[in-house]
Amino acid sequence: MKILIVGGGMGGTILANNLARKMRHDLKSGKASITMLSASDKHMYQPGLLYVAVGKMNPTELYRDQVSLLEPSIEFKVDPVVEFNLDDNNVKAKSGNTYNYDIIVIATGSRTHAEGTPGLAEYAEQFYTEADAVKMYKKLESFEGGKVVVAVGVPHKCPMAPLEITFMLVDYFKQRGIWDKVQLHYTYPIGRTHSLEPVAKWATPEFERLGITYETLFNMKEVNANSVLSEEGTEAEYDLLITVPAHKGMQVIEDAGLGAGGFIPTDRKRLNMEGRENVYVLGDTTNLPISKAGSTAHFEAEALAENIASMVTIGSATRDYDGKVFCFIEAGEGKATYAMFNYQNPPDPKAPTAGIHMFKTAYNKMYWASARGLL
Ligand SMILES: Cc1cc2nc3c(=O)[nH]c(=O)nc-3n(C[C@H](O)[C@H](O)[C@H](O)COP(=O)(O)OP(=O)(O)OC[C@H]3O[C@@H](n4cnc5c(N)ncnc54)[C@H](O)[C@@H]3O)c2cc1C
Repeated sequence: MKILIVGGGMGGTILANNLARKMRHDLKSGKASITMLSASDKHMYQPGLLYVAVGKMNPTELYRDQVSLLEPSIEFKVDPVVEFNLDDNNVKAKSGNTYNYDIIVIATGSRTHAEGTPGLAEYAEQFYTEADAVKMYKKLESFEGGKVVVAVGVPHKCPMAPLEITFMLVDYFKQRGIWDKVQLHYTYPIGRTHSLEPVAKWATPEFERLGITYETLFNMKEVNANSVLSEEGTEAEYDLLITVPAHKGMQVIEDAGLGAGGFIPTDRKRLNMEGRENVYVLGDTTNLPISKAGSTAHFEAEALAENIASMVTIGSATRDYDGKVFCFIEAGEGKATYAMFNYQNPPDPKAPTAGIHMFKTAYNKMYWASARGLL
């Protein structure tokens, strides 16, 4: 049984390690094999980019060698897939090699698509890559006050990032002693401040308490040198524009016709690609209407590892993914809260505490144990 995992990010790595432990006898006897193909030999802890953008983490802390995170029984290759031939059970990779499989798991992640809004990539600061987060920090350092707009597009990975960066900016400006010179304004595409209603109900009064203004039903249409125009016909003027732009899946997914926007139609419980029994999808790459978050990828990977292992040993899947997501929310002032939810139960964020912030800070280090499948 050849298992091929495409993508060595949060979802792919946690799946591979869980699977390697559950199937160790089959791997040892040669009855099964696990191969991972990825686009990089490094693994990035992406949530750390938020901290890099406000000068609270050094980018060097974000990386580990991918091979150091994987169980030794997993064959790992840096060889990005360029072609998916699902009817023939194989993929073609950049090296020119073809990899055959019995089961494939696609976990190639998602990427920002600021280019989809004219002017956005040119004028706005972003923090979804190392280079962008460092550039944003340098811009903040030279900022002396004025109108700051945080403009959000959907879909995007990390549902809490728009709120977190907004609250972290308040802290940043306070620490610089220029908060009284800043007018912070937040825009969001739907009719409330967050896609999850209970989170919006918690965040909106926090905005009001801190003096952050906001505009909902604001879908970015175009950006010029000093304002953002919305599809709804309004305008937000800025001196400093920060964005969480809309995302897409990977180009190779779109090019292969696997899913619109690079997001693959996926069964919400079994996580197989719709209409395909031996193709599974994890994390940001699914088209599921749930958060594109590391925790989503993590909980999906745990369920899928059990299912693949049981399919290999007893020929049947044994577990459904229940839609579980857990996201910390950095709330500023040294505090944090969290949102935990699944397909049945909405989140219910509580008042932020210093304890949860400390736990989040600790998790930033503990993540590496999580990636190894140990947490
Ligand atoms: C600023 C920021 C803050 C965040 N904060 C949080 C948070 O607090 N909590 C949370 O839960 N989540 C957070 N996230 C989101 C989280 O990082 C992602 O949702 C998560 O990494 C998704 O996992 P994934 O496995 O689907 O994709 P990724 O982790 O992005 O991995 C994709 C992998 O696919 C590989 N790949 C790409 N193309 C190919 C190809 N053609 N062939 C082979 N391999 C390929 C890449 O090299 C990579 O290894 C944050 C993200 C960002 C950017």
